[in-house]
Amino acid sequence: MQKRVAVIGGGIAGLAAAVRIHDAAPDTVVTIFEQGATLGGKLRTGELAGSPVELGAEAFLVRDAATGEDSPAVKLAHRLGLGDDLVNPAVGAAALAVNGKLVPMPRGTLTGVPGDLGALAGVAAVDDHDLDAGEPLLAEGEDVAVGALVRRRLGDQVVDRLVDPMLGGVYAGRADRLSLAATMPALARQARREGTLTGAVKAAQAAFPRVPGGAVFATVRGGVSRLVSAAASASGAEIRLGATVRELARTPDGWRLTVGPTRDPEHVVVDAVVLAVPARPAARLLQAVAPGAAEAVGALDYASVALVSLALPRPELPELSGFLVPAENGTAVKAATFFSTKWAHQRRPDGVALVRASVGRYGDEHVLQRDDAELAGIVHRELSTLVDHSLPKPLDTKVQRWGGALPQYAPGHLDRVAAARAALVPTLALAGAGYDGVGIPICVRSGESAADAVLAALRDRPQAG
Ligand SMILES: Cc1cc2nc3c(=O)[nH]c(=O)nc-3n(C[C@H](O)[C@H](O)[C@H](O)COP(=O)(O)OP(=O)(O)OC[C@H]3O[C@@H](n4cnc5c(N)ncnc54)[C@H](O)[C@@H]3O)c2cc1C
Repeated sequence: MQKRVAVIGGGIAGLAAAVRIHDAAPDTVVTIFEQGATLGGKLRTGELAGSPVELGAEAFLVRDAATGEDSPAVKLAHRLGLGDDLVNPAVGAAALAVNGKLVPMPRGTLTGVPGDLGALAGVAAVDDHDLDAGEPLLAEGEDVAVGALVRRRLGDQVVDRLVDPMLGGVYAGRADRLSLAATMPALARQARREGTLTGAVKAAQAAFPRVPGGAVFATVRGGVSRLVSAAASASGAEIRLGATVRELARTPDGWRLTVGPTRDPEHVVVDAVVLAVPARPAARLLQAVAPGAAEAVGALDYASVALVSLALPRPELPELSGFLVPAENGTAVKAATFFSTKWAHQRRPDGVALVRASVGRYGDEHVLQRDDAELAGIVHRELSTLVDHSLPKPLDTKVQRWGGALPQYAPGHLDRVAAARAALVPTLALAGAGYDGVGIPICVRSGESAADAVLAALRDRPQAG
């Protein structure tokens, strides 16, 4: 008998799960329930002054840090026939704001943590307490906030000027709160073996050396939403948009979903569920069926950001992909990307430049209460100061707010996730950025792993359904 699987959440994790189920078990009937009006979640390509512009995630890592192979996102793009449309940055050099001035980003660090202290000259003073006491920095299974470890070994400026803005660029979070094991797993692994932090960085870098000249990031020509639509059609899934799943209940053989408005609910019965929504809605849905898992999942906090994109007529911009701004500079802008410098396919013959700034750090979200025009004005002013001349008036502006969008993995996060997963019956699997990592490749892999897990559970229970 045909099996039915519900994928709840139409972000990249849910879509990757649906494609995987289709490829591994084509007879399975898959329905994707997405509460929004469109698929893609944090992947959303919009339009600015006639050019495509990313309103959410922009690019993804090309290599899998654990295996050195193509990342799951690159593999998915090839699977979807978009391999020829993958493009790498034309300009990789980035800068860092130090005392309000842009300086070249030090090279050779691991998310800002140096293996060679000399690399930070002129950027951050190092308090070198990184002495080898003859035992590993971390015990087996121990986790710690990134900031706590780096402050202890190398001093405050390394955290405040490098590690915090780099982690902030990904999580909008603060190094002092984020888990080393969850945000920098390669470094955490080596910290359980090495006696110094610089030694752990070098060991992590040596384990997966960068391919000389090899690109680190890729995106899809025309926008990452192409990945979304290609995945949706390759999955063969029934797509239900505007379909909020409100309740999950066990049946003797599977699951019953309550979908849609409370006044007019619809019930859908399936054999298995991939739950690919952020942690908060996931915890609400798990409450009735696995309260312990709900508690562990619901402990995850989220940060909010706004992305402000400006189309500027023929501005003078430095030849950079963009820059990061440490919090100590006191700006609302925490990062900026010069899209049309960074990506050759975004360059325009009319010289209009596309620039995007990210605003909002965890715990400092009051700036996001400004209205769109005010935010755009602040960004324009601060960017002008940071590039050291007055930028031209924008031709077009777009403000995209992402409330509660970036997970803040506190120390112990991976243990909480493992406990939550262990508390679930095998026909219910968790996927997405709330669990294994925030980047697109990790979300793709978590969707694929969740798909594999529920398919294995259904194979083990052939009478189910
Ligand atoms: C501003 C921003 C920029 C980023 N930039 C990058 C980047 O450049 N590179 C990178 O690798 N990563 C980036 N990320 C991270 C990455 O985009 C996300 O972590 C990833 O896309 C999350 O995918 P997901 O499928 O887990 O969740 P989501 O994209 O959040 O999708 C979950 C979906 O579930 C739906 N949903 C929620 N509740 C329900 C319900 N009850 N019923 C039905 N549907 C529901 C939501 O509407 C949503 O569409 C960025 C994130 C943000 C916010």
